This record gives sequence, C-alpha cells and structure tokens, in this order.
Amino acid sequence: MRPEILNPLFAALTDLKGVGPQLAKPLTRLGLERVVDVLFHLPSGLISRVPVDRLDEAQAGQTIIVDLTAQDYRPGRSPRAPFGVEAFDRAGDHVRLVYFGRTSGLARKLFPLGEARRVSGRLDLYGDMRQIVHPDHVAEPGDEAGIAEHEPVYPLTEGLTNARLSQLVQIALERRPELAEWIDAPLLASRNWPAWREALTRAHASPRDEAARDRLAYDEIFASQVALMLIRQGLRARRGRAITGDGRLTDALRLPFGLTGAQERVGREIAADMAQDVPMLRMLQGDVGSGKTLVALRAMLAAVEAGTQAALLAPTEILARQHYATLQSMLVGLPVNLAILTGRDKGKARESTLMGLADGSIDILVGTHAIFQEAVAYRDLSLVVVDEQHRFGVAQRLMLTSKGARPPHLLVMTATPIPRTLLLANHGEMDVSRLDEMPPGRTPVDTRVVSVERLDEVVGGLARHLATGAQAYWVCPLVAESETSELAAAEERAALLRERFGADKVGLVHGRMKGPDKDAVMARFQAGEIGVLVATTVIEVGVDVPAASLMIVEHADRFGLAQLHQLRGRVGRGTAKSVCLLLRSPNLSETARERLALMRETNDGFVIAEKDLELRGGGELLGLKQSGDADYRLATPEQLVRLLPVAHDDARLFVERDGGMEGARGEAVRLCLYLFERDAAVPLLRSG
Ligand code: ADP
Ligand code: MG
Repeated sequence: MRPEILNPLFAALTDLKGVGPQLAKPLTRLGLERVVDVLFHLPSGLISRVPVDRLDEAQAGQTIIVDLTAQDYRPGRSPRAPFGVEAFDRAGDHVRLVYFGRTSGLARKLFPLGEARRVSGRLDLYGDMRQIVHPDHVAEPGDEAGIAEHEPVYPLTEGLTNARLSQLVQIALERRPELAEWIDAPLLASRNWPAWREALTRAHASPRDEAARDRLAYDEIFASQVALMLIRQGLRARRGRAITGDGRLTDALRLPFGLTGAQERVGREIAADMAQDVPMLRMLQGDVGSGKTLVALRAMLAAVEAGTQAALLAPTEILARQHYATLQSMLVGLPVNLAILTGRDKGKARESTLMGLADGSIDILVGTHAIFQEAVAYRDLSLVVVDEQHRFGVAQRLMLTSKGARPPHLLVMTATPIPRTLLLANHGEMDVSRLDEMPPGRTPVDTRVVSVERLDEVVGGLARHLATGAQAYWVCPLVAESETSELAAAEERAALLRERFGADKVGLVHGRMKGPDKDAVMARFQAGEIGVLVATTVIEVGVDVPAASLMIVEHADRFGLAQLHQLRGRVGRGTAKSVCLLLRSPNLSETARERLALMRETNDGFVIAEKDLELRGGGELLGLKQSGDADYRLATPEQLVRLLPVAHDDARLFVERDGGMEGARGEAVRLCLYLFERDAAVPLLRSG
C-alpha cells in the first residue's frame, strides 16, 4: 500500500477545484491525470519579459512589460476582421493592441477607455506602426502579483493555456509533502543538489536550473534501478528448475538451412542458463528477420525433452496465430503436442486445451495474455518465452514468472534495437543475448530519403508497384502531442489513396481500433486482398507479409530511428528487392538530416540505436515513442547517459548492503519507489 503521505500527490486532477471535464480533456492528452503528473511536467522553456517605461526604449520582436492607456477602439470592418485598441504609453507614443477572432468583447473589458493597464506581449512593427497581437498578460493597477519578468513555458496542447497550467503547477507544488531524503548524503553534497521539495520549485521556476533538474532525473533513474535490481534479486533467490535437453527433439528438427553463428552462440547461452536451478532472466535482441523464432523453438524443445512444458506469449491474436502456424510447420513429424490459446478460443476447444495443459499432454502452448490469466494451470511449466516484449512493463514481466512454486525460466525476445545505456536503464534486471548476424541471402532494404514536396512522384511510383501485383505499407506521421491528429492524418491519406486506387484496394489500421477489427484488416492484407495498408505505427510489431516490398513513411523525421528501423524491417521479408521511402519535411535541421542519412547508410539496428541516442542528446524525453521501451518522464537521454552509472552504483550499494527497509534510508527509498510508481518492487524490499 502506498504510504499515506504520498496520497495528495496521487489524487486525480479532477478532484481539484476548478478542474472539470472541459479541462480534463487536454490534460489527459498530455498524460496529466493526477497531481503528481503535473508536478513532473517540467517547463521546456522560459519567456523573459523586459520591463520598459516607454515604447521607444523597446525593440521590435522583444517581449515587454509596459504601462498603457486605451484611448479608442478600432472595430474591424467585418465581424471577422481583427479588433484594435489604440493605446498610448506615458510619453504619449502609440501602439495598437490587436485581437483576432471575435474577441472584441474581451478586449473592451480588459481595456476600459482612459484607464491605465500594465500590459505584456511581443512588440511588433506593422509597417511603421507598433502593435502587440493578443497581449499575453493584462494587469490592473494595484494587482500585487503584477506580471512576472520570467515565466516558465510548458509543453501544451489545444485547449490548455500556459497560464492555466502554471496555476495547476502551483497547486501541485503546494501539495508536495516533506519527504525523507533517499539520496545518499555524501552524493547529494558532492553534487550540490537541492533537496527534493526545493528541486521541484526550482525546476519549475526555470528550465535552466541544471542542479534541480539533475536531481529530479536522478531520483527517477535511481528508483528504476533499485526496482530492477530488487526484482532480479527477488527472482533469483527462488529455486527454479534445472532443464537439460537430451537433444532428441532438436536434432530431429528438419531445417532447410543451417543455424547462423549467432543463433548457435545464443542457443548455448540460453541452454547454459536453463541448466541452472536459478530462474533464467534473459532478453534476446535481434533485428526483424534475424531468426529469433528458431532460437526460441530450440529452447522450448529442450524443455519438452526434459519432460516439462513451455509457453510462447505473443502481444496480439494475429501474431499468436502466425507463431502457431510457423511452429506447426516446423514441428511436422515430431512427437510434440502444440496448442494455441487466445481470448478468442471459447467453449469445448478451450476446455480441452485447459485439460491438456493440466494433465501435461500439451507440450508447447502459444497464445496471448490469455495464457496467464484465470484458470490456466500447467502441469509443469518450465519456460516462458515472450515475443516482442516492449508492450510488457516490468510489473507484467514479474507477474509472468510469479506463477507456481518454482518460477519458470524467462526468455524475452525483442526486435527493438536498444542502446546499451537504455538496456541497463530499462531492462537492468535481465541478461542480454544479441542475434547480431542475419541469415544469409537477404538483400538489404534499399532506403531513400525523399522530400514530401515530391509526393506526386511517390504516389506514381506506388501505382507502378501495385500494378506488378506487389503490396505496400504507407505509414502516417506520428504526432507525439496528439493521437487525434495522427489518426486524422492517416484517415486523410487513406481517403486520398482510395480515390486513386479504389476503396477496396486500400486498408487502414490505427491504434484506436479494437483488436479484432485491426486483426481483420491485417488478415486481408496478409491474404493479398488489400494492396496498400495505411497505418499509424501499429504495424511496428509485426506481421509477416512477404509480398509487401515497398514501405512509405510520411514525416519520417518525426520518428525515432529505432522505430523507423523496425518499421523498415516489415519489408524485405520476401525474395523481391525491397524499397523503403522516407518522406521528409522540406526544411530539416542539421541533426534531422544526419539522422535520416544514417537510415540510408546502414541496416544495422544496433548501430542505428546507439547513434540515434547520441544524436538526440539532451532535450528530448525518453518517451515510449522514441526509445521503444522506456518509462522515464523526467530524465532526458543526455541525463540518463550521464547519471545512470552513478545511480546504478548507488542502487547496487543500497540493495546489496543495506538491503531494504531497515533504517531511515530504507524508509526513504521506499517512498521514492512509490513516488515513481515502481510499486511492483516494493514487496521485494527486505523487511526488518
Ligand atoms: P525474427 O522473429 O527474428 O524477426 P524469424 O524467426 O521470423 O525472425 O525468421 C525470419 C525468417 O528467417 C524465417 O523465415 C526463418 O525461417 C528464416 N531463418 C531463420 N534462421 C535461419 C537461418 N539460420 N538460415 C536461413 N534462414 C533462417
Ligand atoms: Mg519474430
């Protein structure tokens, strides 16, 4: 249970006075639902205002604070035209305050004629005339607070103003409790970091306060490191089962090819882990197409050889079915009983699968989440393989292995190329194997970067591609701030392509669709009924469609490179030469240019991931969308790279030496874990 002292921070924002459904909407869009979310929503910039006595002291383009008196109104010629307020400073110099969009009522209210007001806004020149469009603050004389010379600017969304968000931040700051210090005292002193409460005040006051920001980022990284270590320690302290296959099934596998060197090596690493009676916690990283399935199958066969069961967990129904079909064809002629279980399996079939699992007649089970829910009991489960793990958080990983008296070995497979730093940050509890070699005979995807100004040519190329009977993906822009506009863009693109190619030739899938609907479209694409599949990023985790050999990615510059790389892996699965067109905005920054060039230059996911982290540097948060799998909201990549080694060492010292709850530090670290919602790890703190 979360300590009471933190409860005010975890209250819903809608519990606050003045936060109704109207405001809740944009807040939710930004991921702000509870007080703590606002507390951790740090400003991204700072407006500086220059107070001036007279307008002629200021320059155009400057944001100023000045006392003005309105002398006249200047209504627009039509109701839609801007409304003007003719105002003068103390010296009698003129400036027009301009209001667009039927806001004349507001303007009249803010500026009664003949009364002085303190005004701030950006001073511009319109021809020779000074003007301020929509002053950002208007204060009445005697308004104590006045207008701040420095104001933090927050990441915003439609329907939410900076002023409103700043108010919420103030409320959140007032609610923040005094908490015991969890950072090691000498470290805190040596870094000159403020205490937690002060760090929050300072980080909100100025985005440039590095010490304050570092401290908060450190807290988050530290909490995450402690959690991962506790989870590893907790699991490894339990007895698992030692599994050694005798090779009778793996040797009987008839494959038309030999294993790659990487598959051999990784297979040995997994076998060595499974031979221990300590549960395996291993992640298998490998690009799309590197042959992870075969590695997993061999591990599962070893489990069956040892007389036990194995389960393969896929993130979606369609992927589960695909795995099932693949494994079935590989297992032809082998005495292995394979079954599938998803949410869709009901009635008798489901009953008999459950029976088979319980009595041990089913050797390998493939399925979705359903295989770990409810009444699914295994006779003797010794290995769980999770495919495309990045949909699963630490808590779920923990849940998977907590079944049964003897935790099964866990193998997590992912195609997301994760840089080494992030591996430690997000999967620090796991050992890692890398499939860094592709099976022979692949032609690398031919990647080209094209300006979106040449869209017509691109559509023409698509037409020729479809005319040959081949298929294509069209991925639509990712707009981090707004899922709605992402969807709108995809819908619009689909409509356009439908006009050109016919409604039945163009399919659309997006994240808002229900699972079965999504699967249905994907299945039609897989069957070749649809020529172009327009998609938001949901196809990232993917389905195998060998006839799709063209991928077009709009606004490629908005994607994380790791994600682009994974997208690109969706093509190039058949024998045909594949092409990936990355459409870029006409004007790109130097960094954005470099990032896209990197995609053209290499097909190596690991190189791309490392380089991407380097190029992104500071600023950008490690959001889910960029890194593939991160849950940091305070730490930037730059901070992570810089602070992780210290946080890692400190966390290790804490977990290994102090070990838990004892003493004030243990109590404080516990708070820190709850604060950053690493609740799953808390019960693993040693007590007493
Ligand atoms: P991943 O899951 O890593 O994306 P898969 O396991 O689906 O990749 O393998 C992709 C394709 O490569 C499959 O068709 C598989 O049969 C094939 N494959 C796997 N290992 C080898 C190998 N050693 N040599 C040739 N082809 C292989
Ligand atoms: Mg796969």
